Amino acid sequence: MSDKITNYKCPACTAPLYYDGEADRLQCDYCGSSYTVAQVEEFMAAKTDAAAETTENESVEIPDTQADAEIELDGALDAQDNSSGLHWEVSDGMTAYNCPSCGAELVCDETVAAMSCPYCDNPTIIPTSISNALKPDLIIPFKLDKEAAKAALREHMKGKKLLPKVFSQENHIDEIKGVYVPFWLYDADVSADYEFSGTQVRSWRDADFVYTETRYFNLERAGSVSFDNIPVDGSKQMDNELMESIEPYDISQAVDFKNAYLAGYFANRYDVDSDTNRERAAERIKTSVYNAFSGTTAGYMSVGTRRGSIHMDKCKAKYAFFPVWILNTTWRGKKYVFAMNGQTGKFVGDLPIDKGLRWKWHAIYALAFSAVAFALTWLLPML
Ligand SMILES: [Zn+2]
Ligand SMILES: [Zn+2]
Repeated sequence: MSDKITNYKCPACTAPLYYDGEADRLQCDYCGSSYTVAQVEEFMAAKTDAAAETTENESVEIPDTQADAEIELDGALDAQDNSSGLHWEVSDGMTAYNCPSCGAELVCDETVAAMSCPYCDNPTIIPTSISNALKPDLIIPFKLDKEAAKAALREHMKGKKLLPKVFSQENHIDEIKGVYVPFWLYDADVSADYEFSGTQVRSWRDADFVYTETRYFNLERAGSVSFDNIPVDGSKQMDNELMESIEPYDISQAVDFKNAYLAGYFANRYDVDSDTNRERAAERIKTSVYNAFSGTTAGYMSVGTRRGSIHMDKCKAKYAFFPVWILNTTWRGKKYVFAMNGQTGKFVGDLPIDKGLRWKWHAIYALAFSAVAFALTWLLPML
């Protein structure tokens, strides 16, 4: 495919299409039509071929389960959708495109793979960011929608006594974005051996003495562990720790990548390659291996690590897109970012604290503690 950018439009009415995870279909809110991912992919491929042939008034058969609709791709629509595939470099790392729907100039980071046109809101996909060597192997499609992300934020704020009242009003969220984040998934076979020192202590007494016996053990552990799909995010923009905190993802629900899953969402291709990320994956693997091996030393009073060696036999990487809802807000000049796993709903993020309320609660706790201290000091001896 060339440098063109693609809008995902309803074949029946040309309104924007978006991927609805719950239905696992692309939906048009305007006319109510819905299509499977395969139908839309087929339609887009047919449209691209039609544009390439540049013949007039072609018609393309659309496999529409709802209405068996045959969509007339007239010259005007075709031109509107596909002709303005212009792109040019603006400056370092930035690229400009023309929105095929409204013609507006879109200037974006060169890693952008999918977005919405800020002027006409049409879902826009930049195929060059997700084709050939940049094509993801897998994608976990969004399962949860924007409403679920808003509900999760409300739940996250519930019962937080120090949260400023104004903040909990929904209009304080600046932006909610559904983002497909690029991840590298590593497989590795690891063999390791560790030497731990352990002690066991027992004591007893007779009429004259208390005896303590300390026994020292050398604990040797060796074995191998296999890891599948250790995820590490491949986007510089995304905070690694934030992304790790919304894990796990259920990889068994990942499917082969298709562009149509991106319709209505944002996506960036990776800008940290698999070799660079391998080190972070190796760190995660080492920590897991250490925890697994040291977990076998229960039953000793104290355990120290004498030495350890880990050997990784292979560390292959697959490229995948994972769904994340990002909620941004600013509160008194500080930025707050929340993230929700778009598959499982796991929600993380720090909330602001109302300092006035903190002092109020601090005073209440201090009062309670002094009451308890008073009771212990003065009342207990009386019992
Ligand atoms: Zn429609
Ligand atoms: Zn537009």
